Amino acid sequence: MTEIESAARTSVETAADRSTDPKDGARALSESFAGLSPPQRIARLRQMIPGKITFTTGFGLEGQVILHWIAEGGHDIDVVTLDTGRLFPETYELWAETEQRYGRTIRAIYPQNAGLEKLIERHGINGFYQSPETRVACCHVRKVEPLNRALDGAQAWITGLRGDQSAHRSELSIVTLDAARRLLKLSPLFDWTREAVADFAAANNVPVNPLHAQGFVSIGCAPCTRAIAPGEPERAGRWWWEMEGKKECGLHLART
Ligand code: SF4
Repeated sequence: MTEIESAARTSVETAADRSTDPKDGARALSESFAGLSPPQRIARLRQMIPGKITFTTGFGLEGQVILHWIAEGGHDIDVVTLDTGRLFPETYELWAETEQRYGRTIRAIYPQNAGLEKLIERHGINGFYQSPETRVACCHVRKVEPLNRALDGAQAWITGLRGDQSAHRSELSIVTLDAARRLLKLSPLFDWTREAVADFAAANNVPVNPLHAQGFVSIGCAPCTRAIAPGEPERAGRWWWEMEGKKECGLHLART
């Protein structure tokens, strides 16, 4: 077993009993991945992890480029999307186009009926505008709970996070440990800029959401996403009516 494989195993195993600091293994992995290109990071993770690896995509620019590398590499990686039911029509069209382009089906996870019906009954169909609490409740039912099911059984999780997307995300790294879910989290594009990702997508004819060209930089659910003006922070268009906070739906916040 190589040093890196040992670090990966240590990270996942010690996350279970919390008797040592499992973050040390993830930190060592992150440092060892820094010298690799993003597709090399994906390939290396696949070599190291014997079990299931899940990649979650919302069909953003980063997700499309990562899916391109997964498809090109022929990697056995579970590709999943969380269909909140409130996505833009353009996103659904891109989803279909992407499946056709890469010849693979993207597994869709949906909110649970009972939770969704209760949410709408309590807060109304657009209740997320009422308060931070109702918005978080909607994100929990439509995204966070489905994510937990999407990652069920996975030993590693690949995401499209980049460090320069926000102050909160800059505190993360290429590899982190999700101790609560007991899995390693790889963000292969963590140290890339948005421009570099866009350039790669254009040069390689990767299908992207046409809304990007209209100023929708970070695209989530339609009622909660607006275009941003030049110079605005990348995630300013998400939950724009909320002036404070981390601008996260909870998918990438540490669970306690
Ligand atoms: Fe609900 Fe908006 Fe969160 Fe989508 S982004 S799950 S519509 S609150």
